Amino acid sequence: MMLPVSKTLGREANGTRSGLERPKGRTSFLRTPGTPDLEDSLINTKRRKDNKVWWRRERASKMACDPRITQPIPLAPRVLSNGTHEFDPTVIVLSFDGLRADYLKRGLTPNILSIGANGVAAEYMQPSFPTLTFPNHYSMSTGLYPSSHGIVANMFYDPVLNEDFNYKIPEKSWDPKWWGGEPIWETAVHQKQRSGVIMWPGGESLRPVRPTYHVRYRTGVSVLEKMETLLAWLDKPREERPTVMTVYISEVDSTGHDFGPYGKKTQKALGEVDSAVGVLLDGLRARGGLDKVVNLVLVSDHGMSYVSTAKCIYYDDYIDTSDLILEESLQPHLSIRTKDPQRMLEIYHTLKEVQERDHLPFKVYRRDEIPERYNYRDNERIAPVVVLADPGFVMTRRDMGLAVAGAHGWDNEMEDMRAIFMASGPSFPNFGPEKLRPFENVELYEIIARTVGLQVKEGATDGVHNGYVAQPC
Ligand SMILES: [Zn+2]
Repeated sequence: MMLPVSKTLGREANGTRSGLERPKGRTSFLRTPGTPDLEDSLINTKRRKDNKVWWRRERASKMACDPRITQPIPLAPRVLSNGTHEFDPTVIVLSFDGLRADYLKRGLTPNILSIGANGVAAEYMQPSFPTLTFPNHYSMSTGLYPSSHGIVANMFYDPVLNEDFNYKIPEKSWDPKWWGGEPIWETAVHQKQRSGVIMWPGGESLRPVRPTYHVRYRTGVSVLEKMETLLAWLDKPREERPTVMTVYISEVDSTGHDFGPYGKKTQKALGEVDSAVGVLLDGLRARGGLDKVVNLVLVSDHGMSYVSTAKCIYYDDYIDTSDLILEESLQPHLSIRTKDPQRMLEIYHTLKEVQERDHLPFKVYRRDEIPERYNYRDNERIAPVVVLADPGFVMTRRDMGLAVAGAHGWDNEMEDMRAIFMASGPSFPNFGPEKLRPFENVELYEIIARTVGLQVKEGATDGVHNGYVAQPC
């Protein structure tokens, strides 16, 4: 709807508001005096939907750049041979938890970089908000934002189910009621392909359709063992061999938390995971040049930023925390929920006031105030009040202090939160040193689907590139 810009903007002679002036405290520009509240909320809902369409279009045009280099990945790739065996289109996705995009500039990752040099590499991949492990791994595997797939944090409370999700408690978190959307390993099985999942967050969810092969999460499994499992899967006969394989690799994240992004052990972990990629590449080459037959996609879920006690915000200095339902502490991102809605409002106003008065380094949002670009509003599991620390700062309590040297969870546009994307194989063109323009990780599901010819229903994901790799500029 187009509204004419006219001289009637603003306050009319009788003191009522008219035209485009925004009524104070309202989110709609379109409300006319006397509109009932219900109708007003319907208008707002429509406006939110319009905004979403606009936002998607805006994102698509922001990311589309030079059509010269747009490369369609063949939708139904052909069967390839390594000389002795036929291979259906196959993709291996390796996710390195907490591997910040600029870690690749440290000269420690020649094998990871070789994937990009032989195929495509993005300047970086943008994680979804909040930049945490479970929401992002499930976004990558479903193509949906956390507010769409429902895993809105690593720990959260669902007011409808009156239960909480905790990624560390399998009996709570693997119930399929938590997990929305359709992960790629399930899409593969639905479409008569086979999938293999090694420890990928969400892979253990007990949804009715399970991956064909699954290695459960447990500590103490080295990244080399995971590469050996992949190679063993590739050695299976064609009719048993998985075509979509996803692998979760935790080492760089855990050392990043314990020793910080610049810690010696983080550097060592980077070198180790890179060597493991070298072992995988050697294994592929030793199988008659499978590196030219199998698509490899290397990603991470988010980055890592250095934190110190000098940059802790002790939120219990400002609010009574005794009646918070669930807190995900030691995070830049703090969810606030109490049984009593009035109390929640009190906390909101208190935090807002002290923040404004003392210029404290965080933002306080009611759920409906969370910036649109986070795509983090439309789900009851998102707490009614969300506090987000400024880059480099963390929210903690006096009794908890700070037990880590690195963290993540901030604004997904923050440089330290950037993730990696690179890919090689028959579905990916070789762009040489030219880097792909950054894109959001909700694009990944369709990229993976396209490499192996899986069909994706129109509008089934929050991606806007339809499975094409984003264009370099
Ligand atoms: Zn992570």
